[in-house]
Parts: sequence; C-alpha cells; structure tokens
Amino acid sequence: ETGTIAFLGLGHMGGPMAANLIGAGYTVIGYDPVPAAVEAAKAHGVPTAASAAEAAGGASVVLTMLPSGRHVLDAYRGAGERPGLLEAAAPGTLFLDCSTINVTEAQEAAAAAIAAGHRSVDAPVSGGVVGAEAGTLTFMVGGEDDDVAVVRPILETMGKRVVHCGAHGLGQAAKVCNNMILGVSMIAVSEAFVLGEKLGLTHEALFDVAAHASGQCWALTTNCPVPGPVPMSPANRDYQPGFAGALMAKDLRLAVNALEHTGVAAEMGQLASKIYDSFVEHGGASTDFSGIINTIREQSEP
Ligand code: NAD
Repeated sequence: ETGTIAFLGLGHMGGPMAANLIGAGYTVIGYDPVPAAVEAAKAHGVPTAASAAEAAGGASVVLTMLPSGRHVLDAYRGAGERPGLLEAAAPGTLFLDCSTINVTEAQEAAAAAIAAGHRSVDAPVSGGVVGAEAGTLTFMVGGEDDDVAVVRPILETMGKRVVHCGAHGLGQAAKVCNNMILGVSMIAVSEAFVLGEKLGLTHEALFDVAAHASGQCWALTTNCPVPGPVPMSPANRDYQPGFAGALMAKDLRLAVNALEHTGVAAEMGQLASKIYDSFVEHGGASTDFSGIINTIREQSEP
C-alpha cells in the first residue's frame, strides 16, 4: 500500500497527472511555487502544502514533474536557504522523477537520493498534455526492479504503458532516443511534402503512397504536417500544439548532450537540434513542431 505522494510541479503536465492520482483514490499533497498552478490544482481536488519540504516530509513517494534537470537537482539538494527534499524526506522515501532531463542528470539525481538513504526511479513520459489529462501517458522507466514494482501502479494510474528500460537514467535514455527519431523523421516528412509540392504531387497522392510504403512513420500518419490526409493532426488547426516546437527543441538538446557525452556520430540528430533551435528563435516556440514544414517551404526558392 502506498502512503502519501508528494507531487512537486503542478504545471501543464503535473496538474492533470496529480488530479488523476486523486481521482484514483491516492493521498496526494501538491506543491508549486506559482500561485496559478496551485489554484488550478486545488480546483481539481489536489490539496497543496506551503512548501516543497513540507510536502516531502510526510510522503513515502516524492514525485517531481519539473521543467529541467537543474530544477530537479536544486529541489533535491536545496538551493540557498531552501532545505533540499533529500533532507526533508523520511529515510527510505522513493524519489520518482517524471521530468524530461539529461541522462547524466538523472544518474546524478539517483546517486544523490541513494547516498541520502532514499530510493530513486526516473520515469519520463510521452503523450503530452492530452495524454496527461486522459491518463494515457507512456512512462519510460529506469531503476531497480523492487522500486519500479512500487511505482508501477502509480504510473499505470497516470498512463497506459509503463516500460522498464533498465537501470537508473535509462528511462531518460529511451526518451531521448525516441524523440531524436521523432525530430529527424518530422523534418524528413516535411521536406518530402515540400519537394512533392514542387514536383507537382498532391499531398493526398504522396500520403496515399508513403503511409503504406517504407516512408511510413508517426510523423506522417499521426502528426501529418500538411492539412487534409490526417484530419486530427495539428496542421488542420493552424499548427496549434500538439507538441510545441520549444519542447522538441528542448528534447533534441538533451539528445545532443547525450551524443556528445557518448561520442556517437549522429549527424542527423545534431542537425535536427539546430533546425528546431532556429524554428524556436523564429517564432515556432508555441507552434506544433510539425510547423517546421512552413519554414522549409519559406526557405525554398519560389
Ligand atoms: P510546466 O512549466 O508547465 O510545469 C513545471 C512546473 O514546475 C511549473 O508550474 C513550475 O512552477 C514548477 N516548479 C518549478 N520549480 C519547482 C519546485 N522546486 N518545486 C515544485 N514545483 C516547481 O512544464 P510541463 O509542460 O508540465 O512539463 C514538465 C516536464 O515534463 C518537463 O520536463 C517537460 O519537458 C516534460 N514533458 C512535457 C510534455 C508536454 O507536452 N508539456 C510532454 C512530455 C514531457
């Protein structure tokens, strides 16, 4: 039986995830430094504490859903006057980080938690805000078997798929590898549609071929970057996300960090990161990442 879950980070993802835990009968105590996030969580029935340390103090699981690895490590260790969660939590607390962070940061966070007498699991997600609200997220999990067994029912409440990928940090590794495929394949699909346009091919014709041929991939058949062939794709609603360009750029930067750390010669991943950084700098931050097709078209000769 799980005791209280301290839920730190009640933003776009954390808010609905915490609400789903409450809905399933878990005892949750939330915290977020932003008052609007706290108010939204309260409106969804999530009680909140006055500080992160207060929330963590009485918890058996400390779940973090924060913007970056820096936020996670600072929250764990404390920054300035603020006591760290590792210090505030009772011995043996299970630290469950669902944020998307560097593989090395996840390993560092796990080592710090274990050194402080706690347990650690990394469990980044895919599925976006829609998946968080519907409870259909996929969790990619890194950690010890026993600890993963403890958090599995919690994760299954917030998601529909939980994959134990290996040791500490390997949940993040799976996330970064998957999203590197996604970034590269979305650019490839978009380049093909623009080339098809120049050659006189209709979107429908290219889709009908590629969706059933060797070009088939999620970027084409689910998140199709042109309006029409896939009615639910963001292209049909003026590229409202969906998966925002800023998040794709963030994940590709994590991929590049991992490439540099390991010395892997992945030119496509490196280039995808540059392309999405530029997309964000030129107004694509809150556009769906499939909006990259418009940049490719604009940069092509008329
Ligand atoms: P968000 O910015 O909406 O939420 C993060 C929240 O953390 C904010 O409300 C912030 O105030 C809070 N926070 C910061 N420091 C804190 C602290 N010390 N204690 C408690 N709360 C703190 O971001 P999000 O979209 O919810 O994303 C969260 C994580 O999930 C990120 O790592 C992101 O990359 C990842 N992710 C996001 C999506 C998505 O579609 N939004 C999809 C998959 C993964």
